[in-house]
Amino acid sequence: MTKRFWAEGIRFECQGSGHCCTSRGEYGYVYLTRQDRRRLAEHLDIPAPELMEKHCAVTDGHVHFKNPDKDCAFLEGKRCGIYEARPTQCRTWPFWPENMTPKAWTEEVVASCAGVGKGRVWSAKEIDELVQLGYRSTKK
Ligand code: SF4
Repeated sequence: MTKRFWAEGIRFECQGSGHCCTSRGEYGYVYLTRQDRRRLAEHLDIPAPELMEKHCAVTDGHVHFKNPDKDCAFLEGKRCGIYEARPTQCRTWPFWPENMTPKAWTEEVVASCAGVGKGRVWSAKEIDELVQLGYRSTKK
């Protein structure tokens, strides 16, 4: 079996650039799981149907924030306005299954995210756990 390139862990800490929250063509979609929607509705103190109506849309059976062609509606300056209740897709960046090849890591993550190489080291076990959550990418 090929050795995982993150076998010794990866140093990563969000630098708050907001770059991954702005629309970048094919990376516009922020998907929400049922649990994400429940947590966010509670955080915003609105009923789940209202959250769906105001902030969500459905494409191919998957719920995501509205207007994927625009910056995330919850981005305030460069900060997430719902940070404590942000969707799991946002929580698990950059450790998404599709990013975990050397090529994708270099071209999609290192090239665009200032958090790589900063902060603490995430262990291989921690990374595996996030990768195994298997969150869909924001790609259309
Ligand atoms: S929910 Fe927050 S972290 Fe996720 S894309 Fe929007 S602003 Fe960024």
